[in-house]
Amino acid sequence: MLPPVKKDRVITQLPRCFSPHAALHTKDGFHPQVKAVCQVQKTATVNFNIAKVIVVGDVAVGKTCLISRFRKGAFDKNYKATIGVDFEMERFEVLGVPFSLQLWDTAGQERFKCIASTYYRGAQAIIVVFDLSSVSSLAHARQWLEDAMKENDPSSVLLFLVGTKKDLSSPDQLSQIEQEAIRLSEEIKAEYWAVSAKSGDGVKDFFFRVASLTFEANVLSELEKNGSRHVGDVIRLTESTEVDRTPTKRKSNCC
Ligand code: GDP
Ligand code: MG
Repeated sequence: MLPPVKKDRVITQLPRCFSPHAALHTKDGFHPQVKAVCQVQKTATVNFNIAKVIVVGDVAVGKTCLISRFRKGAFDKNYKATIGVDFEMERFEVLGVPFSLQLWDTAGQERFKCIASTYYRGAQAIIVVFDLSSVSSLAHARQWLEDAMKENDPSSVLLFLVGTKKDLSSPDQLSQIEQEAIRLSEEIKAEYWAVSAKSGDGVKDFFFRVASLTFEANVLSELEKNGSRHVGDVIRLTESTEVDRTPTKRKSNCC
């Protein structure tokens, strides 16, 4: 048996977005059907309890520090450059239901492009990270997204565009690059966030939002898959055995 979820990983309300101009949605609370399902199935083993999240972006934009700040609650100054791919499980409780994010910290993809498709595949959320103090890292965000999307079904993936190292920029610099980032977010239908792993600013709120939105999307798609969006039918959810997370696009551009 797994130990109980830590108290500071309990989500009872939908966290707010960072900017209403670039949000996946701006509703105040979880979808009513999601709330209803969770009320009846608090402890049941359900198929929507895990989500694969991939984190992509240029080298040194702060991907590993971002994950590490959330997981450990501290800024890891001595973090070594990530080699290959790594994933960490982060456990939550959303509306009383256990839920985990499988966070894939992708690293050195420039050199490991060949294996990239393996870890891009089957993601429920893609976090594209850029450095708020580097315009070029934002310019590269689109390419990262395109690469990651090749292996995924665009209709079922949630996108987040996250600017890191907020602590390094003056308010003026910040607002300039944010304008650009929000414009890109609107275009690619991503939710925009600005955070700092160093100060911790926005990091927990961001991951809570990722957990909440992927959880909500998983529950809704599960209801849909079971042919009903009626809460009265939820019992059927527990009867299905496996969630088919196979992406529709399988073709890889790999070497
Ligand atoms: P990755 O290659 O994208 O995983 O980048 P890392 O997480 O390894 O971070 C690259 C460098 O940026 C390291 O020297 C970190 O100390 C630094 N860094 C990461 N996040 C922040 C931040 O929020 N603020 C500041 N000032 N530096 C950061
Ligand atoms: Mg790294």
